[in-house]
Amino acid sequence: TAQSLVGSKSVTKSTETGKKVQQRKPELREDIRNGLEECIGNTPLVRIKSLSAATGCEILGKCEFLEPGGSIKDRVAANMIKTAEEKGLLTPFSGDAVYEGTVGSTGVSLAIICRAKGYLAHICMPSDQSTEKAQLLRKLGATVEPVSPAPIVDPNHFVNRARTLASNHTASTTKPGRGLFADQFETSANWKAHYDGTGPEIWSQTGGKLDVFVAGAGTGGTLSGTTMYLKEQDPTMKAVLADPQGSGLYNKVKYGVMFDVKEKEGTRRRQQVDTIVEGIGINRLTKNFEAGMKLVDDAVRVSDEEALAMARFLVEKEGLFLGSSSAVNCVAAVRTALKLGPGHRIVTILCDSGTRHLSKFWANQDVGESWDMTLDDVLLANEKLVK
Ligand code: PMP
Repeated sequence: TAQSLVGSKSVTKSTETGKKVQQRKPELREDIRNGLEECIGNTPLVRIKSLSAATGCEILGKCEFLEPGGSIKDRVAANMIKTAEEKGLLTPFSGDAVYEGTVGSTGVSLAIICRAKGYLAHICMPSDQSTEKAQLLRKLGATVEPVSPAPIVDPNHFVNRARTLASNHTASTTKPGRGLFADQFETSANWKAHYDGTGPEIWSQTGGKLDVFVAGAGTGGTLSGTTMYLKEQDPTMKAVLADPQGSGLYNKVKYGVMFDVKEKEGTRRRQQVDTIVEGIGINRLTKNFEAGMKLVDDAVRVSDEEALAMARFLVEKEGLFLGSSSAVNCVAAVRTALKLGPGHRIVTILCDSGTRHLSKFWANQDVGESWDMTLDDVLLANEKLVK
C-alpha cells in the first residue's frame, strides 16, 4: 500500500536462479503499541467521494468505526479511567470496579479497557434493550444488570442505579476494592477526551483547513470537546449539531428551549425521543452538552427515513457500512454543504460500524446489487415524510 512504502528504499537482489529483482526494503522504525489502550485514537480521516462530488463541498469523515472497541466511545472510556487513576480513585488489579449506566457503545468500550487494565466492569442497562448488547458485554467479561425502564428522576433509572451500586461497593466491608461511577453524561473527562484527541487530530489531519464541524450528540462530549478545540484554533470555523427526529437538542440550539416550540405557550411539552437512531438524540441537558453548547452555530434535524437512505447510499457508493448516528451525521453534513454552497470543507464523525446495528437500524434493508441511488433519493426520503 502507499503507506507501507513510505520511507522504504528500493534495493536490487539476486534470486536463487541468479535473476535480479527489485525489492522494497522498509526503513526500520519500531512501532509497537503497548497494549490495547495505545491503539485508541489516531483514526484516519476519509474523503467521502460520492457526497463531495454531489455537493461540490469536501465532506470528510473521521473513521471512529476503526477504534479497537468499534466506536468513538473508546476515547471517552479510556480517558474516564485514566482520569480516575490520576485522582487515585482506581488502582489496576486491586479489585476496583467501574460502574456505568449505558445502552450503547460506552459499555463495550469500558468492558474492553477494564479487562486490559484489571478492573471489573458492571453495566446497568434498561431491560427493554436488544439481548445482543447484553450478550456482547458478557462475552467481554462485564457484569450486566438489566434494570426496568424508568424516568431519569427515578432512583431506579439505569444511570442512577449504576451510581448507587458504585457507592455501595466503596462502602462495602465484604467486597474487595472500590467502586467508581464512570458518569459519561456529566463528567468532564468525556469532553476532554475529544478536546485532547479528536479535535487536535482533525486540526492536524486537515492541515488546519476546515469550515464546518458536524456531529450528533448523545452525551454531547464529542460535539463540545471537538468544537472547543477547533474554535480555539480558528474562531471562524462553524459547528453544527446533527440531531435525529424526536430529540430536544435541535430546538435548544435553534430556539433556546428543549420543548416543542410549535406548542402554544403553557402547553409546551417535552418531545419523546422516538427514533430508530441509537447513540445520539436526547431530551435533557447534560453537562457534556452544556460545556460547548454556546459554541454551536446551527442544527440540522434528520428523519429516520433520511438516515436509513443515507446508510444505504454510503454502502452502495463507498462500501462504507456504518451505524445510524454516522448516517445522521452524513445527512447533516450534506444539508450543511447545500446550504453553504460549493467550495467548503466539512468534517463529520463516522461513529461506529453497521455491524452493531444489524438487528434494528439495518434489520429491514439490504443494499443488493444496485448502484443507482442518487443523493436526491436520500434527501427526498425526508420530503416524502414531511408531506
Ligand atoms: N454514536 C454512537 C453510536 C454513540 O454510542 C454515541 C455515544 N452515545 C454517539 C454517537 C455520540 O457521542 P457523544 O456521547 O459524544 O455525544
